[in-house]
Amino acid sequence: MTEPSVFTRILRGEIPAEIIAETENAFAIRDIAPQAPVHLLVIPKSERYRDVVELAEGDPELLAEVVGLARAVAAEHADGEFRLVFNTGAAAGQTVFHVHAHVLAGQLQEKTLG
Ligand code: 5GP
Repeated sequence: MTEPSVFTRILRGEIPAEIIAETENAFAIRDIAPQAPVHLLVIPKSERYRDVVELAEGDPELLAEVVGLARAVAAEHADGEFRLVFNTGAAAGQTVFHVHAHVLAGQLQEKTLG
């Protein structure tokens, strides 16, 4: 069996992180290494999908739920305008293979996801 992802472990309370918002099937946390003044992660509760392509193909409604939660947290933590980044594949910078959206707002730092 593969190990649970870091995000599954956060959801289970095994790794500390404040869940700042959630819906039935997704939750949001602050990124531990922010690359912008606002840097949040929106994550499906299930780690079934590795990346956004798998998620879009396997459960487009859940992808829409993730985008909706991103919009909600961006409205609460920024002015409602934001970048939504899904790193897809290791060569593109993905390090956690449990699909998640980066919600970025404000001036991005020099070494950035964008
Ligand atoms: P990726 O590189 O896969 O697109 O994004 C993974 C993100 O998860 C990174 O930006 C990284 O900083 C964040 N991250 C990794 N481990 C933790 C953790 O334990 N807590 C939180 N809050 N974020 C994490």
